[in-house]
Amino acid sequence: MDFVKGIDKYPWVDQCEKINVRQFLSLWESQDLSLELELNEESLDRKAMEICNINEETIEDIKEDLDPEKLNRDKEWKDYLYGNKLSLPNHIALRSVAAQVSHIEKCEQNDKYRRIANQSLKYRNYTFLNNQDASKNSSDEPKIEGLDVILNVQVFRPMHHSLHVGEHRKHVNLIAEQEFLCLGRQLLTALKDEIICSVEVNPAEDCSDDPEKERPSARELYTSSFFFIDDCFYNDFRSANNIDCSQVIMDWAKNKERGIGTLRTAKMEETRFNDLSIRLGQPYVYVHQGDCEHMIVFPEMRLFCPQTDSPFLRDYPKVFKTVNRNACKCLMCHINVAKWIVLENKRLPYEPYFFCNQCFMSFNYDSEKKKIGHFKAFRYLDESAFL
Ligand SMILES: [Zn+2]
Ligand SMILES: [Zn+2]
Repeated sequence: MDFVKGIDKYPWVDQCEKINVRQFLSLWESQDLSLELELNEESLDRKAMEICNINEETIEDIKEDLDPEKLNRDKEWKDYLYGNKLSLPNHIALRSVAAQVSHIEKCEQNDKYRRIANQSLKYRNYTFLNNQDASKNSSDEPKIEGLDVILNVQVFRPMHHSLHVGEHRKHVNLIAEQEFLCLGRQLLTALKDEIICSVEVNPAEDCSDDPEKERPSARELYTSSFFFIDDCFYNDFRSANNIDCSQVIMDWAKNKERGIGTLRTAKMEETRFNDLSIRLGQPYVYVHQGDCEHMIVFPEMRLFCPQTDSPFLRDYPKVFKTVNRNACKCLMCHINVAKWIVLENKRLPYEPYFFCNQCFMSFNYDSEKKKIGHFKAFRYLDESAFL
């Protein structure tokens, strides 16, 4: 059983075949891939000349024509974004060209249209990080030997449960904040250790009584967490203090009337990505700090490619894509980035209220650093500082 409520509404996920990562790898290991794995620019040229029966001069011409640099359309792209005149052939009767011409004209004439069009660009808010490693020449680092699988893992922004009212849900923006490249041979804990969430980088306690006191972060104090993948809770038990956060859900799911079926548990630190059976595109869950829930999705799985992927084990899990964020500003001065969240303060118009350091101290404390009235204060590190 692979229970996801309402998954039948998404046939591209529901009907997607479940893939066992180890079987996927074994399938490719049984094929002779020696040629593909050993290909470099020189041997690729030789092979292409042999297969196509062409000489070296022709292959150089083809390489020059297909140079990716020639696909660089930075200038035209900026013209498109800012609505400058972009010359498109007007003698072509294709509807797509007519739509593009009309779109550019609208961009030129209507600022609002141009702004909305730009905001709707799918990858506008993402930064793609280079998959190549600068230190590729250092030979003493452990390298990836043989075949392996590379899985893309998207980690989404945590869900806000306050947006749920019974069965109904207000519109929630699903934003993949980080996308990782993980190796099939790696443990799930390797991914967990790389996920950064603003909830755990600060102390999880009210700091209003002594805001300058050093406190351990929530990440250092509360290390229990789990991944929920293919009806199995993978709990992190590396620390003796960790608790089984999934137990309460297991107990809740035992009620047959809920129709959830049997759920399993396993140790995160003993499970490799190769041990998983996954559906590409299906939502799974990562839960930490008790109730901070991140949807995770595997959008892609492929073989490790020695020609383009970093060969060093230490480079994985590798952050491959991050979302661009605008820093949350102090609500009082609207200049500095927020460093504090204040709750239960009757002197403030909103809750939660975000303060920078200066405004926080000047508004909430007197000259002797004594609290003015009742309030709770939590340290805040804006995600733009680390994502
Ligand atoms: Zn989180
Ligand atoms: Zn301020």
